Amino acid sequence: MDCLFCKIIAGDIPSSKIYEDEWVYAFADIDPKAPFHAIIVPKEHIVSAAEITAENSRLIAKIYEAVAKIAKAEKLEKGFRVVNNCGEDGGQTVGHIHFHLLARRNLAWPPD
Ligand code: AMP
Ligand code: ZN
Repeated sequence: MDCLFCKIIAGDIPSSKIYEDEWVYAFADIDPKAPFHAIIVPKEHIVSAAEITAENSRLIAKIYEAVAKIAKAEKLEKGFRVVNNCGEDGGQTVGHIHFHLLARRNLAWPPD
């Protein structure tokens, strides 16, 4: 399958690993939008949040378990933001569902 994040998960494209378990892989974003910027993906190929079903939604819980573990390991006790872009208008540029974990700067919402 011609999917950038599937290739990263398989190790065919190099990445800087931040976290991995049976269901989830997390790596450093190549173009970071904050001093800490991880991309967290399920190892199973799911296109976007619009494709979540009763059959695969447990993987989203696994993503958030990983978020909490990474936040602890990285000592992000001041807080962080998790972002999921979905589809064209949502700004999604890679068609494998992923969650941005952004931290180590003030991410107050809404942005200026
Ligand atoms: P999105 O715009 O929500 O689809 O996010 C895609 C993200 O993937 C962007 O923040 C990119 O910087 C990031 N990205 C694209 N290619 C790579 C790569 N080879 N390694 C790490 N991050 C990447
Ligand atoms: Zn994929």
